[in-house]
Amino acid sequence: MPEKIFRIYNSMTRSTEVVEPAQPGRLRFYACGPTVYSYAHIGNFRSFLTADLVLRTAQAIGWETAYVTNITDVGHLTEDDAADAEGEDRMAKALRSKEGERFANIWDLARYYANTLLSDWQALNLREPDARPRATEHVARQIRDVARLLEKGHAYETAQGVYFSVASFPDYGKLSGNVLATGLDEGVRDVVQDPEKRDPRDFALWKKDPDHLMVWHSPWGWGFPGWHIECSTMAQAYLGESFDLHTGGEDNKFPHHECEIAQAESLSGKPFARYWLHTRFLQVEGEKMAKSAGNFFTVRDLVGPESEGGRGIHPLALRLALISGQYRKPLNFTFDQLLACARHIQRFEEAADLAAQGVARNDPGEDALGEPLARLYEQALAAMLDDLNTPEAIAAAIEGAKRVLRDGRTMGGATARSAQNWLEKINGLLGIVAQETPRTAAKTAGSAAAEEAFAREVEDLLRQRAEARAQRDFQRADAIRDQLAGMQVEIMDAPEGTRWRRQISNPVS
Ligand code: AMP
Ligand code: ZN
Repeated sequence: MPEKIFRIYNSMTRSTEVVEPAQPGRLRFYACGPTVYSYAHIGNFRSFLTADLVLRTAQAIGWETAYVTNITDVGHLTEDDAADAEGEDRMAKALRSKEGERFANIWDLARYYANTLLSDWQALNLREPDARPRATEHVARQIRDVARLLEKGHAYETAQGVYFSVASFPDYGKLSGNVLATGLDEGVRDVVQDPEKRDPRDFALWKKDPDHLMVWHSPWGWGFPGWHIECSTMAQAYLGESFDLHTGGEDNKFPHHECEIAQAESLSGKPFARYWLHTRFLQVEGEKMAKSAGNFFTVRDLVGPESEGGRGIHPLALRLALISGQYRKPLNFTFDQLLACARHIQRFEEAADLAAQGVARNDPGEDALGEPLARLYEQALAAMLDDLNTPEAIAAAIEGAKRVLRDGRTMGGATARSAQNWLEKINGLLGIVAQETPRTAAKTAGSAAAEEAFAREVEDLLRQRAEARAQRDFQRADAIRDQLAGMQVEIMDAPEGTRWRRQISNPVS
């Protein structure tokens, strides 16, 4: 394969650049994940999907990848805090809300929404990261970083907390261009009203608050860490002091990413990430998504079964809709477009069915599609390498599916095999043809039908295992047990029969 060039728009240099990983052929990157105080909404997923497309494009050109994305399960300050000096964070607020009533404490709430994040992630066919660190599991390291910032003179302590001193980092503002205190109101998550703060731009590294719902012990007493330190600490813990690329939504650029850079580079003296990629916000029917506007959708609002209040939309149709615009332009999500996407997904499925049938027919024939499909794949890949130009890549994918459907039932084996290979490659690149982990996805999609199908599959395997054991074929029985373990099913043999349950997986790998 001739060497491929991957270009992205680097928010740091404000120009489109060739991505050159520090270690050639190995892209190391970090994507800001969600705060788990509620179900993730489709706007959040637009940003997560950008990271997924970076991953897929890098892998499509044969690069190795080290991909880390976090879960923010420590509550941070809400907008209300600016006015309300008592302080409350998004998670504490969620716990006190109507939906919060079913959780016994904040830890239960965080765990529940982190699990639903993972199911939505799989339903929308996002590939798994190499690590998914949780903020709550890395507080000791965050405390250590805060202590080091104090030692190095980049931070100071007040009666209320520990702050990063922006004046101690002359490069502050290099990402966002924002060197004044303006804009902080939008980023209120870490704006703390503290009369002892030396500069209004200084942001919290540690908040002293023994009465907070989540507290840890630190050299500055009981309290909790700031939001920005969580990401820079975990990124450096998993990817090293310097890595290639950092992604997030456009609102992350300031103050979150600006503050991450200040912390990380003050600690290491080295550039933190070399490329910064920001996804523009998703709008719904032309407006900002807001609960009050009635246009606020979580993933499950759309893909959940109707019996559970969802709209029964095919998850891949939602994925296609969310990636249908290039990440650098605002995207307007509409129901008309979602329905059009559902029709495209249906065509991909029909194409995959026809190809499978053609391969099974055992009549080789001439390969009529190999060449045109290879060209269309190259077009799609070239579009993705050009700053993730998804509209062009998707157009090539749709054109290919059309060609497969046109040859349809008359496809000989060779053509069908080409069609199948092509669909698999296009799926690898864009993830819009089929769920890559059908079992896990079905298991977690939350629909009753999917649950049933999963249970039937497990029961069937258990029956086969019981038969194997009855025939003293322990090798086969063990193989089936391993297969079940791979499906995250734990089995318990008891005198009255075998019971099974799903393992709660620990996503931190
Ligand atoms: P949060 O849970 O608020 O920390 O958000 C998780 C990620 O989703 C962040 O990277 C945000 O920038 C991103 N995000 C939030 N709202 C939207 C939106 N409407 N469109 C695209 N990305 C968003
Ligand atoms: Zn972050």
